[in-house]
Amino acid sequence: MHAALGDFALRPQPEPLDVGMEEVLAVGEELRRLPSADRLLHALAADLAAQAGHAQALIAVRQVLDQARLAIQQGAACPAFSVLVQQTEDHMLTATRPSLLPVINATGVIIHTNLGRAPLCQSARAALTTLTAGYTNLEYDLAAGARGSRYDHATQLLARLTGAEAALVVNNNAAAVFLVLSAVAVGREVVISRGQLVEIGGGFRIPDVLRASGARLVEVGTTNRTHLRDYAQAVTLQTAALMRVHFSNFRQLGFTAEVGLADLVSLAHSQGLLVVDDLGSGTLLDTTLFGLSPEPTVQASVAAGADLITFSGDKLMGGPQAGLIVGRAELIARLRSHPLARALRVGKMTLAALNATLLHYLRGDALTALPVWQMIAARPVDLRARVESWLQTLTAIGIQASAVEVASTVGGGSLPGETLDSVALAVPLTPGLIERLRQGSPPVVARVAGQQALFDARTVLAEQDEALLSAIAKALLS
Ligand SMILES: *Cc1c(COP(=O)(O)O)cnc(C)c1O
Repeated sequence: MHAALGDFALRPQPEPLDVGMEEVLAVGEELRRLPSADRLLHALAADLAAQAGHAQALIAVRQVLDQARLAIQQGAACPAFSVLVQQTEDHMLTATRPSLLPVINATGVIIHTNLGRAPLCQSARAALTTLTAGYTNLEYDLAAGARGSRYDHATQLLARLTGAEAALVVNNNAAAVFLVLSAVAVGREVVISRGQLVEIGGGFRIPDVLRASGARLVEVGTTNRTHLRDYAQAVTLQTAALMRVHFSNFRQLGFTAEVGLADLVSLAHSQGLLVVDDLGSGTLLDTTLFGLSPEPTVQASVAAGADLITFSGDKLMGGPQAGLIVGRAELIARLRSHPLARALRVGKMTLAALNATLLHYLRGDALTALPVWQMIAARPVDLRARVESWLQTLTAIGIQASAVEVASTVGGGSLPGETLDSVALAVPLTPGLIERLRQGSPPVVARVAGQQALFDARTVLAEQDEALLSAIAKALLS
């Protein structure tokens, strides 16, 4: 027999549709048992209904009745009245609850973009509370009694900390790169190494941003090796800048070569060109203190002579989401007066948190005050002690768990492939455990390795110990 024909013959034939008269009558009977919208509405808990508001309550009632009607038509029985009330109340609660929630990050990834990147330090949180409740001197110069600039709350600090002449703050680093290229390279060429045409998370691709800004991308070198002569040969009368982009989330190994920033700067300046340096994460502190590779510091980039440097506020800086730009005063002035600067400008909440964060760097206590750096600096011996104390609590209530050695990562497009020795609580994986943890209150995001759920102590904030343990107990015992 022909194979295809044989296949066909083996396929199950659909059952002929056969809905008898009795079933039709039964469905009608069940549908008539459904309560009216009004009756359901009046049965809702008064406080819940008041909290959600009449309109939301009505929407929830209709959704629940529609669902029940559909289920009955497919052969289900009419749910009990109390079940319908419960379902409606659940709908109302879900619809009117804030959707942005605090989450316990037990993944061991310190700068986790999906989980909101850097947790803010205590003083940044305090600044947000005090400064958002009322009016502020956001754009009012209190000494002069005249209009001031919102940027003054961050830019002088940034310049002082990095050694740059001037600074500017925009919404995020993607915006910073976009503004820089729009302001200094529109309609002109920007030379960049093929090894640095990176894609960061969320589809942000350096070549796309470059094109969207109106600059023309000129790629030089090869994927693994780019030399100074490659840049030199690519320079034309149309060239505006040489650009360096941090590798961010990947790493080059083996037979590789990239041009150092100092060499790039001397070539550019000898030709009257600018050097734009996208540092990505950017850091003011030395990562080698913690056994990690050197992540380029902003100060080093300024000292090497880069003209405009961009980096994120919420990666290794440990502050709020922001795009920080430092560089030469005359260029920063050009960025500030560009129409895009207004479109990309930050609000008072960002400036409040950024100002408080930067002050820690100025005072020299960033390492101990900023959560990102506290987590990077946490010692395995202390993490083990913490996990041991978790174990004691869990064992006391009859939960089997153990302490295991794991590797945390910094994340956030910094130090790819590098890990920090850490300790995690390990719990045997049971069906649905990870989902129950994720949907608990507060939600816990854990890591799965083989047949275990792992909770890396490094990224669990100190004040979250109790909440974590009760979430684990609840998810395991339910
Ligand atoms: C993270 C990153 C960006 C984007 O920064 P956001 O603050 O997320 O907008 C741009 N360039 C590099 C190299 C990065 O690592």
